[in-house]
Amino acid sequence: MDISLLLDNLNDGQRNAVAASSKHQLVLAGAGSGKTRVLVQRIAWLLNVENVSPFAVMAVTFTNKAAKEMRARLEEVLNVPANGLWVGTFHGLAHRLLKQHWREARLPQHFQILDSDDQLRLIKRLMKAHNIDDSRYPPKQIQWFINGQKDEGRRAAHVIPSADPFQETLRTVYALYEENCQQNGLVDFGEILLRSHELWLENPDLLQHYQQRFRHILVDEFQDTNNIQYAWIRILAGQNISVMAVGDDDQSIYGWRGANIDNIRNFQHDFPGAELIKLEQNYRSTANILAAANAVIENNQGRLGKNLMTQGEEGEPISLYSAFNEQDEARYIADLVDEWSRGGRLRAEMAVLYRSNAQSRTLEEAFLRSGIPYRIYGGQRFYERLEIKNALSYLRLLLNRQDDAAMERVINVPARAIGEKTVEILRSHAREQGCSLWQSAHEALSLGLLPKRAGTAVQGFIDLIDEMSVGIHELKLHEIVDNSITQSGLIEHHKKEKGEKGQARLDNLEELINAARQFESGDYLPADEVDDETEENSGQTDLAIFLDNAALDAGEGQADEYEDAVQLMTLHSAKGLEFPQVVLAGLEEGLFPHKMSMDEAEGLEEERRLAYVGITRAMEKLIITHAESRRLHGQENFSTPSRFIREIPDELIQEVRLKNTVSRPLMAKHNRGGYDTPAQPDFVKQEQSAGVPYDLGNRVYHEMFGEGTVLQFEGQGPGLRVQVFFDDAGQKWLVANFAKLEKI
Ligand code: ATP
Ligand code: MG
Repeated sequence: MDISLLLDNLNDGQRNAVAASSKHQLVLAGAGSGKTRVLVQRIAWLLNVENVSPFAVMAVTFTNKAAKEMRARLEEVLNVPANGLWVGTFHGLAHRLLKQHWREARLPQHFQILDSDDQLRLIKRLMKAHNIDDSRYPPKQIQWFINGQKDEGRRAAHVIPSADPFQETLRTVYALYEENCQQNGLVDFGEILLRSHELWLENPDLLQHYQQRFRHILVDEFQDTNNIQYAWIRILAGQNISVMAVGDDDQSIYGWRGANIDNIRNFQHDFPGAELIKLEQNYRSTANILAAANAVIENNQGRLGKNLMTQGEEGEPISLYSAFNEQDEARYIADLVDEWSRGGRLRAEMAVLYRSNAQSRTLEEAFLRSGIPYRIYGGQRFYERLEIKNALSYLRLLLNRQDDAAMERVINVPARAIGEKTVEILRSHAREQGCSLWQSAHEALSLGLLPKRAGTAVQGFIDLIDEMSVGIHELKLHEIVDNSITQSGLIEHHKKEKGEKGQARLDNLEELINAARQFESGDYLPADEVDDETEENSGQTDLAIFLDNAALDAGEGQADEYEDAVQLMTLHSAKGLEFPQVVLAGLEEGLFPHKMSMDEAEGLEEERRLAYVGITRAMEKLIITHAESRRLHGQENFSTPSRFIREIPDELIQEVRLKNTVSRPLMAKHNRGGYDTPAQPDFVKQEQSAGVPYDLGNRVYHEMFGEGTVLQFEGQGPGLRVQVFFDDAGQKWLVANFAKLEKI
């Protein structure tokens, strides 16, 4: 490969970073200055010019999606598969370590990842079992406490006892929680990092193995590492591994989750001889957009001091639209999408960013009404949806009967007459015996602890799970998933639910089968699948890996990836991304800056950094909107425009005046609520199918379900689904493409 290719298209500062000969580097630079590009090119440089083995490189990205992109980018640059590289998020990489060294980490081989919902449920359960009043000690606060401690690397035993009973209770519940997780092989997100850090501390040989293996560690978005992540890097790096950290103190937006800007300040001290490289040219945005971003962030104190300029064109002014309520705002944004795509641009080049997740609903409604395809990025996570979590819980039970969290979740979903009282009997027996719920259920039956009807119901559940497990070794993953959502009764259960919601849940369950199918075909790549040390993984079934990925990868990479859709996301998840046109919605005092963070200087500065992140996502065009009134949490609020709007110099802004809207202010004041009730979205069911050789009412044959009658169609193209009433197997939705129905 031609070396100059690796340095082409880079400015001097970037080139210095890519080809650096210093041991460590800290690349500190503003948004859009090419930090991520430098990181990728640096890896290419190491592999190609310095002949570093791909197995000796670890790159830490902020999302799994970013990891995938980095891998793809490298393959493009190198023109060879980038297998072997450890690229992933902190959590992904640490999880991989734990999987490989579960014994040394004191974990069962199939330990389960506990997501934040499961975690809260477990905390509540433990509090109840120990008579801790959850009105005095809010479980959410305890959860927050536990996660905070783990982010600092502190176990319950390290928390200093306190004279304050409240603090003591936090500590006690933490200890109980820790013990319970260890007993049941459960690992929450914070634990993944903490545990793998301990793994190294406690196993010097293992640490040494990795220290000899890796030569380079590269970390993107370094400003948002928390203390345990930083400690993790430091211990791994030891004396010999080179570390390149790239980041921007002005984009530190995860302080509320323990991220510590001081890591940037400490880097040069902790990694002696680290070279500081600053990049000052922005390649992303027009001069106007950049000027706005710089003007806003200048209001923060104590910045590390960086310059950012562009040689790009001035560009259009920033548009400001004052909507009179949130529906007006959403409609205006929908019009913008239409205008953009009529101008021949892809909708996917446009992003709508907002401060709080709840804002998406109104936008979604407006898009649905206008028939605009949209995608929520990183937000409404597929694997966090109720029906999906239920389905996954059944699958988890198939794999591991001792998984109490899973059993709790589905023992009575769908309802099978196992009431809370019965479950409590099982729980307390499990507590007494120190055994799992599953075992407790068995014992409760043989000891006659349950009333007759409840006993029959519990026996039914046990039989169901056992039946569902029959033959899973012979089946393909998607068949296991398919069978389990049917046999468990989940499909029937959601069919009974009325309206769009039930249908959406059914669609999601079908989508889970698709995900399993995709996984089999290898399209669904975990962040780090190929390795030179797969030995430890050999006993794992596809199912186990699939479940782990589902837990880790929640939501990134959603359905309908191929449709051209406008992107919706929170400002937090927009980090690192760029779009030709960006709308920042809901710039109102109290919403953004958020009222929770408005009153103290530090909180406000973090909000401002978030504004800086938002503005700097835009390449060509930035639109800012705010609403004079907004319904939030069921309440109508009137609010003033965000201070961040005022911080942008007037000459950069052009206010939007709509020609057809007369007497807007009047309506806003006098006709509140009466104005503009949104029309119901128009979900037209498709009566006729296309591309399949059968029709409504036809008799058809299916390989597995036998003969049946076609009842209805929904969706179109590859998404076309057909509902069939099978004579023996009952009513089922099938994806037409996969169902292979024959007309008879
Ligand atoms: P952020 O802080 O938002 O993560 P960043 O510093 O990581 O931004 P990149 O995403 O790497 O910036 O780069 C921003 C854009 O500028 C990208 O589209 C990238 O391809 C482009 N770019 C970077 N360097 C150059 C260059 N030397 N010449 C042309 N384009 C460049
Ligand atoms: Mg970046």
